[in-house]
Amino acid sequence: MEPDVFEPLLQSVREFVRGRLVPLEKQVDEEDRIPDELVAEMREMGFFGLSIPTEYGGLGLTAVEEARVAFELGWTSPAFRSVFGTNTGIGSQGILIDGTDEQKRTYLPRMASGELIASFCLTEPQSGSDAASLQTRAERVDGGYRLTGTKRYITNAPRAGVFTVMARTDPNQKGASGISAFVVDAASSGLSLGKPERKLGQRGTAVCDVIFDSCFVPDAALIGGVSGKGFRTAMKVLDRGRLNIGAFCVGTAERLIDEMVRYADARVQFGKPISDFQLIQAMIADSEVEKEAALALVLQSARLRDDLQPIVKAAAMSKYYASEMVGRVADRAVQVFGGAGYIAEYCVERFYRDVRLFRIYEGTSQIQQLVIAREVLKEHRQ
Ligand SMILES: Cc1cc2nc3c(=O)[nH]c(=O)nc-3n(C[C@H](O)[C@H](O)[C@H](O)COP(=O)(O)OP(=O)(O)OC[C@H]3O[C@@H](n4cnc5c(N)ncnc54)[C@H](O)[C@@H]3O)c2cc1C
Repeated sequence: MEPDVFEPLLQSVREFVRGRLVPLEKQVDEEDRIPDELVAEMREMGFFGLSIPTEYGGLGLTAVEEARVAFELGWTSPAFRSVFGTNTGIGSQGILIDGTDEQKRTYLPRMASGELIASFCLTEPQSGSDAASLQTRAERVDGGYRLTGTKRYITNAPRAGVFTVMARTDPNQKGASGISAFVVDAASSGLSLGKPERKLGQRGTAVCDVIFDSCFVPDAALIGGVSGKGFRTAMKVLDRGRLNIGAFCVGTAERLIDEMVRYADARVQFGKPISDFQLIQAMIADSEVEKEAALALVLQSARLRDDLQPIVKAAAMSKYYASEMVGRVADRAVQVFGGAGYIAEYCVERFYRDVRLFRIYEGTSQIQQLVIAREVLKEHRQ
């Protein structure tokens, strides 16, 4: 995007986040739902199609541009982003990266407009980090496949009109090579949802099981029209998702530092604002340094992606460092607020709960460490 188009767009996102979303954070946390009119406004602003190419009706942002938008979105509760986050991320990317032209034309325009919500079904009750061991079966039948199995903790499933589903087409291949990816309409017979989960944080996001009971999908639902490639599709989707989570964490850290500073300037103890105390300043300094380091890492990784370079290690490092960083920053924010930090009236209590998830989904911190180490070992042995 030309800077004279992108910069005003970024400014309008910033104004929407700070003027419209921030005042609703507490209500969303308490009611555990996003107001419908807000979803309509997000559609209007093009949020659902941020990363979808313009030829399919999206804004077609580069990875660096998308990261800069995510820095802005991170300023507020992650629940708002989750409304469209699966459409711009894990829900659409499988089709975008590996789908056939027909699949792209059928689904991407409606995802970009927000008419169709997309979710991503990889995790199962018995397979999380070890995703290649998934058990959902896709049995070959006349004209298509029958899917049987349960997917767990699926973000946006209650709102979704379509799912990217990883299932095993070859029961003789126990690992990744037996897995294929499908795009499955939510209205398919044999597909049902579990009960909405109650969570530690990120209230307002919707998560539940997706259950396939001999659910028929036609041949045209196989992503890319090729079987056995679904695990690789899922990993490519997650690389991009990890960059986005990293960027979002930077935005949240920025917000938390802002909250810390304003509270520390206003709160008086021993006759002085607590911001005068060097032990408080140390917490602010450490948070700022780590946030800036994460920002640099995320931007560097996004540039690699825009230059079409491999991003497996870069995306894992971004997600790992930024999600751990924002956890530490949220912890310090609670500390700077003292007792108030533990009380729901103050937003740092909510952010402390919300950011915990970033170290878990789209690959836990331990899985990112394994990916990073694998790539480093490979580089050094070559
Ligand atoms: C709110 C929420 C939303 C989610 N949304 C989605 C979604 O939309 N789609 C989707 O497919 N999934 C989703 N997930 C699932 C999420 O990606 C998984 O929970 C995550 O990948 C971890 O898997 P697990 O829960 O099975 O934990 P496990 O894999 O059982 O891990 C448990 C612990 O063991 C550690 N561990 C596992 N293997 C190793 C190892 N080899 N070395 C060292 N440590 C290890 C893990 O790091 C973790 O600390 C969501 C989860 C939540 C909570």
